[in-house]
Amino acid sequence: MTRSYDYFIVGGGIIGSSIAMSLSDLGASGIAVLDCDLSGKWGSSERNAGGVRVTWDTPVNIALSKSSIDYYEGVAAEVGFRQKGYLWLSEASAWSQVLKRMDLWERSGCEVFLLTPSEITAKFPFLDRLDGVAGAVFSPKDGLINPNLLKTHYRRRIPSDVIDWIDHQVIDRVDLGEGGICSVRLRQVASEDTVEAFLRRHELPLESEQEDIRVGTFINAAGAWAPEVARLYDREIPTNPIRRQVAVLHCQEADLSPYGMMVDTSGLYFHHEAGNLLAGYAVPSEATGYHFAYEGENYFMTEIWPRLAARSTSFDRLKLIGGWAGLYGVSPDHHAIIGPVSGLKNTFEAHSFSGHGVMQSYAAGRALAEVILQGDYQGIDLSVLSGQRFQSGQLLSEEMLI
Ligand SMILES: Cc1cc2nc3c(=O)[nH]c(=O)nc-3n(C[C@H](O)[C@H](O)[C@H](O)COP(=O)(O)OP(=O)(O)OC[C@H]3O[C@@H](n4cnc5c(N)ncnc54)[C@H](O)[C@@H]3O)c2cc1C
Repeated sequence: MTRSYDYFIVGGGIIGSSIAMSLSDLGASGIAVLDCDLSGKWGSSERNAGGVRVTWDTPVNIALSKSSIDYYEGVAAEVGFRQKGYLWLSEASAWSQVLKRMDLWERSGCEVFLLTPSEITAKFPFLDRLDGVAGAVFSPKDGLINPNLLKTHYRRRIPSDVIDWIDHQVIDRVDLGEGGICSVRLRQVASEDTVEAFLRRHELPLESEQEDIRVGTFINAAGAWAPEVARLYDREIPTNPIRRQVAVLHCQEADLSPYGMMVDTSGLYFHHEAGNLLAGYAVPSEATGYHFAYEGENYFMTEIWPRLAARSTSFDRLKLIGGWAGLYGVSPDHHAIIGPVSGLKNTFEAHSFSGHGVMQSYAAGRALAEVILQGDYQGIDLSVLSGQRFQSGQLLSEEMLI
């Protein structure tokens, strides 16, 4: 073996990059981040909506978002963090649940307000069709972030002499020794076609260069592909990759640039983005798998436009400009899986963020780095997010999902 690293992270998306930054902040060196696609063409970190909010059901989700927001505020200009608020419309049948959540948000120190329908119209005049809306939750310190700038920020903050970024290689095998992972085998995926074949169909070229590397601590941060990586060390992760589409539209009738993220009672979300409107809706019947096809006009006409037009006369006429699809890594209880891997020394994981990995990336990376280097959580206790919960039956419950 020609190379060895003290900390070996698989996955250089926003989560792997954040973990690497916090390891380095806490004094670690000898870090490597492996990604077959470091540019992130297929990764979820380049294909998301950039929403950031504290309005969650569980204390752990609130704590992860809140602590991350404190960090983003300090680097707001660099990471494109715009605290323009997060509006969540609610129907009457859900209102008693909203009131219970308000109690939790207040106790957690989150700035959240309830709006009546007339207050919604006063604050968001273009929302002129509020049939069935009982009120809304509005959190002014939440909003939107630029995920690419945030990932770049994490990467840039790491001194170059403590880290190696390994691109266009995949992990193909791990070797166990002394109760943990002691070495990994990498295979080259040199061309964009081979990267695509690997990430979409898990195919590897028959012949390609390989290299064995000795590793001290192993971290699985492979996003929606984390279950595939975990199989290399004989662990089943109950997470599924699920396609999520986003449509980009042009709206001539209303300027949404003063507003942050908005979520309709139907689950449709939308916000202003670079002169256009970005809108997404999670189709409940979506099959699991590494699917990236964007359905364009069909998706727009069936899922997006009817829901938007039901809320505003400004959305009667919209022009579809484009869109894309990316993956959510969805765990059974829609919470991330973070922490030491049970039964394997020096092996850790941070994945399955179920659609909220960008907003929670700073705090998740920091907490995992604390456990790795200091043996326990120092700030936020993430032990409830351990992968062990699926064996012990201690699942969490989160319903504020989009
Ligand atoms: C349409 C959409 C909208 C979203 N909206 C939001 C939002 O508003 N707010 C929010 O917080 N989150 C949102 N998300 C979720 C968010 O994007 C993800 O939770 C987050 O990006 C996960 O980051 P990651 O680093 O874990 O995964 P990724 O960015 O996918 O990184 C994983 C990396 O691992 C690499 N990899 C995988 N397997 C291997 C292997 N065997 N060898 C080498 N490399 C490997 C991949 O190439 C990839 O780059 C959205 C996601 C989608 C798809």
